[in-house]
Amino acid sequence: MSKTIKGFCLQGREKIYPNSGVSVTSNTSVVEMEIPSLKEGEILAKTLYTGICGSDNSASLGKSNFDWVERPRIIGHEFSAEVLELGPGDHGDLEVGDKFTPLAMLGCQDDECPACSVSKWNLCPSKQIIGFHRNGGFGQQVVLESDRVVPLMEGLTPKQGALVEPLSVVVNALHNKCTIKPGQDVVVTGCGIIGLMSAELAKAAGARVLVTGIAHDRDIRLKRASQSGFITIEVSPENPLSKQLKEGIADDNGIPFGVNGQVDLLIECSGVPQVLAEAITVVRPEGDICVIATYGKEVEINATHLTRTSLNMRGSMGSCREDYMVAQKLMVTGTFPSEHYTDLYDFEDITKAFEDSIKANNMKAVVKMN
Ligand SMILES: [Zn+2]
Ligand SMILES: [Zn+2]
Repeated sequence: MSKTIKGFCLQGREKIYPNSGVSVTSNTSVVEMEIPSLKEGEILAKTLYTGICGSDNSASLGKSNFDWVERPRIIGHEFSAEVLELGPGDHGDLEVGDKFTPLAMLGCQDDECPACSVSKWNLCPSKQIIGFHRNGGFGQQVVLESDRVVPLMEGLTPKQGALVEPLSVVVNALHNKCTIKPGQDVVVTGCGIIGLMSAELAKAAGARVLVTGIAHDRDIRLKRASQSGFITIEVSPENPLSKQLKEGIADDNGIPFGVNGQVDLLIECSGVPQVLAEAITVVRPEGDICVIATYGKEVEINATHLTRTSLNMRGSMGSCREDYMVAQKLMVTGTFPSEHYTDLYDFEDITKAFEDSIKANNMKAVVKMN
């Protein structure tokens, strides 16, 4: 008898406020899965390792920006997997047994689509995100379009494969949207995995990096950031970044960070509206702000200040195939030290993995799926 296949399923859409006494995983449960028959262009794969994204947490908490996700849905878009079966149609060089990570975002691939015609599926208005628009990587098996497949590069472990997608998002933001010069002072606001990946890539580009977090981040996330050699500070509404920079921050060698409380580049990864609003005051004239986070409400910005300081503020959405290739290389070569940021869980402990992630008690939860 074949073993039952299980998946971690988003079911409810109740709004859950952490610390309200309601279990943070009450909208989700582990279910037995049926595998549908393969359609044209689809493959069946066994998942190997799947990472928990902040967006998975937001959907689990019933946040309104994920209302559009149909339930029940097996979530998960950051994973590595092995091909079990090729469905009807052409799958190129792909073979049973190949290990890969999927492109989270699949574009419409219409020649008339401005985004897809230049291979930027991440900007396609009708893109389909695996784990939100269709079942994803938190199933022990997954059916997906072979067009999404990015083969794992030689030397990359399946465990690292689960980190390719989030790292590719940071590659797109830092390599395509920012120009970091050696010796620059860079602030990363927010110390979730996207923040710390940003900090690592900025450091690799020769910058000196400061990472911010809140009091809750002190023991785990800011600690790991500090172990990696970043300057770390705790911010609060009473003691914001701008105030601390003005008062003076120095690195371990006593060298002041920033000039007159201002830095060259700020990378916004916190998703807190006030932090983005404050950002334009801590970047020097003609400096850069790169926004990777999204926000639960509109953010009020002093646009006149933006004009008068000639700041460059730009957003960066998702990633595409090229960025996945760069992300893999950064892990294979050790430029991004993935081990330092990975917290591994067995599938039996998947609910705990979500609880820990939602409560920010880990860095990047990666679940061994089989
Ligand atoms: Zn994600
Ligand atoms: Zn398109």
